[in-house]
Amino acid sequence: KLPPIDGDFYDLSLKLTERQREIQLKVRHFMEKEIKPIANEYWNKAEFPFEIIPKMAELDICGIAYDGIGPDEQSFLMEGIIAMELARIDVSISTFFGVHSGLAMGSIYVCGSEEQKQEWLPKMQRMEKIGAFGLTEPDVGSAVAGGLGTTCKQGGDEWILNGQKKWIGNATFADVVVIWARDEDSGRAKGFLVRKGNPGFKAEKMENKMALRTVQNALITMKDCRVPESDRLQKCESFKDTAKVLKMTRAAVAWQAVGCARGAYESALKYTKKREQFGRPIASFQLIQNHLVEMVSNLTAMQTLCFRLSELQDEDLLTDEHASLAKVFCSMRTRDVVSRAREVMGGNGILLEHDVARFVADAEAIYSYEGTKEINSLIVGRAITGYSAFVS
Ligand code: FAD
Repeated sequence: KLPPIDGDFYDLSLKLTERQREIQLKVRHFMEKEIKPIANEYWNKAEFPFEIIPKMAELDICGIAYDGIGPDEQSFLMEGIIAMELARIDVSISTFFGVHSGLAMGSIYVCGSEEQKQEWLPKMQRMEKIGAFGLTEPDVGSAVAGGLGTTCKQGGDEWILNGQKKWIGNATFADVVVIWARDEDSGRAKGFLVRKGNPGFKAEKMENKMALRTVQNALITMKDCRVPESDRLQKCESFKDTAKVLKMTRAAVAWQAVGCARGAYESALKYTKKREQFGRPIASFQLIQNHLVEMVSNLTAMQTLCFRLSELQDEDLLTDEHASLAKVFCSMRTRDVVSRAREVMGGNGILLEHDVARFVADAEAIYSYEGTKEINSLIVGRAITGYSAFVS
């Protein structure tokens, strides 16, 4: 049994194997020892703590769900638990990891040739090379499926990419950025592995974010960016293949929301037991207990739902609407949990050093990335009604 921890009310960790619990604990200890003491400082400075990458690599947790790539205990459930444990302390670190291990490695895993997988995945698994994923553009976010503005055109044995990408996490320092572009000739989406140092590729850090400040998001500009045919993702035929990557990673984003809510709830619970007003701990007041119960109910519902979601994924039964439902539900409930956590802490709830303000801000990013609440709702709506309401 793991040491008792307040945010796992139904003891879901008891459903894990011994080895899975070991990995969970290892990640938890790393986050508490290495990240918790520096999380607020780096978030405040909007800088990334590069020194943690080699230590994180030692955890051996990248690509844990990928057949033949990750370490033992390969499962999507484990991937979800890891996303939760990372986000429970710092959603930025969880996002950095999710972009690298989920979106970037996942694109190569799903859409790469054997040679591409052999070249990149082992090094990325050891975090010797870091990846990014460039899909969103300044003018196209939710409608990216049919509206990619970035183009690619084949000329002999190379492709020429032109266009911009916005919000691309890790791209300011990544060794490889997966870029999705529309083929000028066929109109279909293609994926490319753009290597660091490509002269036609520029990534500028986006400033002034009010959430996930530690994550280095970039505005990418590609001007006649030349990529050899050997760096085109060989198994991407259309946007349907890009969507396979997003379906695979969306479940981990739902787990990230659980981690964000859990971190805020646990800090708030501790605070209410210590903080006294009117001569008593505020945790003894009925109205405060009501907030705490609302929080733990939401958290427990989210965790249970994500657990089943990952089981479906491990059984190869996951559909787009399964993943979208979890992303919608968890990102909405997380917003509620973090705002109650802030509320029960009074004024201290808005101070970074009390460890809840950061979760309140970061919950906003989870709400919007990897498909906004509306877009994921429309995916579920289409599945349950048979009507697509994306465009009226
Ligand atoms: P828009 O698409 O402009 O949407 C604006 C609003 O309109 C939203 O509320 C949306 O739900 C709503 N809306 C749009 N269409 C409809 C409709 N048909 N019906 C009802 N409502 C609708 N992208 C990457 O490619 N790589 C990354 O690494 C990455 N990291 C990110 C990190 C952060 C912190 C953030 C905030 C974003 C990141 N993104 C990344 C981009 C993210 O995926 C997009 O922000 C998201 O897809 C939404 O696109 P948008 O912001 O352009 O919003």
